[in-house]
Amino acid sequence: MMSNSEIQELKSSLSITVVAKRLGLSVERGHFRCFFPERHANGDRTPSVSINEEKGYFKCFVCENVKGDVISLVQMYLGISFAEALKWLKGDAPSIKRDMQKSTVQKPKKQENSERQKFFKEKVIFDFLNLLSPIPPNSKAAWWLAKRHIYKPVWDKVLLRLIDDYHRTSRELLAKYSLEDLQYAGLFNNQGILRYGRHPIIIPYIDEQHRPFFFQARAIEKDVVPKELNLQKAIPFPYNKEVLDGKPGIVYLCEGAIDTLTLLGHNFCAVGVPGVNSFKPEWVEMFKNKKIILCLDNDAAGRASEARISAMLQAAGLETHSFGLLPEGEDINSWFASRQS
Ligand SMILES: [Zn+2]
Repeated sequence: MMSNSEIQELKSSLSITVVAKRLGLSVERGHFRCFFPERHANGDRTPSVSINEEKGYFKCFVCENVKGDVISLVQMYLGISFAEALKWLKGDAPSIKRDMQKSTVQKPKKQENSERQKFFKEKVIFDFLNLLSPIPPNSKAAWWLAKRHIYKPVWDKVLLRLIDDYHRTSRELLAKYSLEDLQYAGLFNNQGILRYGRHPIIIPYIDEQHRPFFFQARAIEKDVVPKELNLQKAIPFPYNKEVLDGKPGIVYLCEGAIDTLTLLGHNFCAVGVPGVNSFKPEWVEMFKNKKIILCLDNDAAGRASEARISAMLQAAGLETHSFGLLPEGEDINSWFASRQS
């Protein structure tokens, strides 16, 4: 762990503008588009987030909670923890240093016993998912899903879970594991609280053997930000990766688990990337023999990401197409909703 003064030193060695660009944000005249375009008129076409390069600060003039220093910028944009953001800034982005001579970037030391730790984390996550119930029909979550054209056969198939009693779930976890272990597994935050108080739908990422290694928690109330919480560790594979079976066929690649589920409900063969910028180069080979239809949101971020993902897949000799039916600003869900009404 870094000391406070080390963190201050790291911050002062970084240019927040360069970090923002490095993250893929397009910064123009000290502004970039908000991460929550839906809260802005015209999807924030006129960028609302201003950067104060001197103070190393950013702030959206509409969204109260979109503000902070260079570390919060990385955290918010990549959906990662404070510690992970520090690691990202320290180790994985050496070229963003303001002062190149001083840059003595070290990769974090490889931890001993990391295999055992990984196994332990997985066990805690597995136990957590086992404590939860399937989505009860007629519950608020069930209605929320139905509104997105995601119905029971899909819930069952992908093992959706619901935290229907947050306090009980929290107590049961604490009865089984120490708080430290639960924090280590990423389920509890630094304040000792189960993280998913307002994110009751749990969407597990399951592998071929139906083992959940990772999950995403989804809010169903409108005002909750962010809408999705990822488990604080690297996303191991695309969502619903079991359709990537190496056999010839078409897959629809979309943004987020919810869009993926909507497509699955319409019998499309779909996989999801958790966020626009989360597609990893090492995932390319999982798509072998597939023709890929990219269905990311039709907004600036989605289109940029589509171009990036498509280039990676094409470089590996794969055929890609854009879904091409989404009007400006729409995503898979809004498109299906508008087609039904
Ligand atoms: Zn905003």
